[in-house]
Amino acid sequence: MSLYLYVPYSQKEEAKKLGAKWNPGAKKWYVNCSCEHYDKYSQWLFNGNSSVIVAMDELFIIDGKMRCWRCGALTKVFGLGLNNFVRLFAHEGKVITEYSHEFITTHSLFRLAYTDKIKYIPPAMLRYIESNYNVKNQYSKSKKRVVFANHCEKCMARLGNWYVYDRNESPFSTEASNGRELQSRMECLTIKCIPIYDEIPLFWKCSYTPNDFAYFEYAKIENLSLTNKKDGIASYSDLYLID
Ligand SMILES: [Zn+2]
Repeated sequence: MSLYLYVPYSQKEEAKKLGAKWNPGAKKWYVNCSCEHYDKYSQWLFNGNSSVIVAMDELFIIDGKMRCWRCGALTKVFGLGLNNFVRLFAHEGKVITEYSHEFITTHSLFRLAYTDKIKYIPPAMLRYIESNYNVKNQYSKSKKRVVFANHCEKCMARLGNWYVYDRNESPFSTEASNGRELQSRMECLTIKCIPIYDEIPLFWKCSYTPNDFAYFEYAKIENLSLTNKKDGIASYSDLYLID
């Protein structure tokens, strides 16, 4: 299990001194160490951001349906998900490490995640999303930048993150007023589990509600392999170096 780093050419000797190794195929520096030591490499993990999530074991695509706000048609939407991860963030000049399992009582919990920046989705995942969902990367007047989002399959209206994730009635939201409603909403979802071999730094945002147990409890769970390898477990190269 390797952790890949964003090391600029000018800092390669420094990275080497701290134990980083070069993968000539991926053209990337990486380290093999336990997550308690990731903070040593934070400058090459943040890549210009103030925090990073390092995903372990699995990545997820969550599949659901919702009514379009414009035409009312039922349309397919995707979301992202994580379970085990380490989050590193800068705080008062220090790098703090947070472990996803510190906050939960069960050992494995699905966390809904999102990004509207296409560059933050590993290319192999993106290829799968683009061929299975009506997604577009387009300029948003309200955000004043290009955003990657679900769109209605019928009328092409943008279904932004707020519609898909944040409203109480959003298809992926676990904010339901009663248990029966929560269960029936989750039963409409399919969680596609992508097993990963390496540890993948991601700049996704991740939410948590006390009802998150309901994802694994009630949604349908499927394996999704993004590699041609027999075991189906994706390495860094399988996710990032695609033809
Ligand atoms: Zn529509």
